[in-house]
Amino acid sequence: QKEEWAKLVNDQTTTSDGEHVELAANIGTPKDLEGVIANGAEGIGLYRTEFLYMGRDNLPSEEEQFEAYKEVVERMEGKPVVIRTLDIGGDKELPYLDLPKEMNPFLGFRAIRLCLEQQDLFRVQLRALLRASAFGNLKIMFPMIAVLEELRQAKALLNEEKDKLIAEGIDVSDSIEVGIMVEIPSTAVAAPQFAKEVDFFSIGTNDLIQYTFAADRMNEQVSYLYQPYHPAILRLVEMVIKAAHKEGKWVGMCGEMAGDEVAIPLLLGLGLDEFSMSATSILPARSQLLKLSKKELAEFAQKALELDTADEVAKLVRENYISE
Ligand code: PEP
Ligand code: MG
Repeated sequence: QKEEWAKLVNDQTTTSDGEHVELAANIGTPKDLEGVIANGAEGIGLYRTEFLYMGRDNLPSEEEQFEAYKEVVERMEGKPVVIRTLDIGGDKELPYLDLPKEMNPFLGFRAIRLCLEQQDLFRVQLRALLRASAFGNLKIMFPMIAVLEELRQAKALLNEEKDKLIAEGIDVSDSIEVGIMVEIPSTAVAAPQFAKEVDFFSIGTNDLIQYTFAADRMNEQVSYLYQPYHPAILRLVEMVIKAAHKEGKWVGMCGEMAGDEVAIPLLLGLGLDEFSMSATSILPARSQLLKLSKKELAEFAQKALELDTADEVAKLVRENYISE
């Protein structure tokens, strides 16, 4: 199997009925790029920038961030790189920001909520991203968007910083795509509205599943409620993809579910355009996708949506699409 996978490193990911999907990688630092390139990723679907801010006692400067983002887009040589703005809070703390302890950190002051409040910190990151955009195919993604106003505010700040940089004579790409993570149920349900104001969506199932079932993703006692194959999740995914495609926008997924062999046939059938996963999952996923027919799976996915439980869905996929 390993040998079969190795032959696929330089291939595109095209299904048996000739449909192209993009297989991208999730990274946390530029150091991860070696594995990404060795495993034949067609892009970066999620660069988690919070690692730049963690394990230190002060904020990273604009220059430091610029260097990191520039390195990633340059080494990806024109392939798409989706960089997510700071997603701190929840399980990821930054002691030096001195944030108050919260009863429910996952429901609290995190990610875009914090960035819109602490604008100085956010503007530094936006400037670094805008400057790096001149060196490759950089896309910007905002995490934990729950309502349209957050997206509009974040985009307004981005445009302000862009105008300032241009006025300073600094090069900025004029074709940066701006998208959001869909990881809160309100955003999945309101996807038709969001789709008009973004260039792309990336579904963050790690959080979307936790918020849909109201079950902490870190708590073992409720881990049985972490159910990626549940028809409720599949329906949310379908809603997001349909809404985006209606507006001519693309949809990725960067939660763990995107690299899961049981989920992949369903996601292909629901019309997902980009699958972003850890680098080591890319070649197995490519090998699997080459053998699948998107047209056939579109019908199959509709059957799965009608089932009652996650177990039933998993069983149906395994019986039909996973060879032991
Ligand atoms: C997600 O929520 O699915 C996601 C990709 O983001 P993170 O795991 O960093 O919260
Ligand atoms: Mg998340």
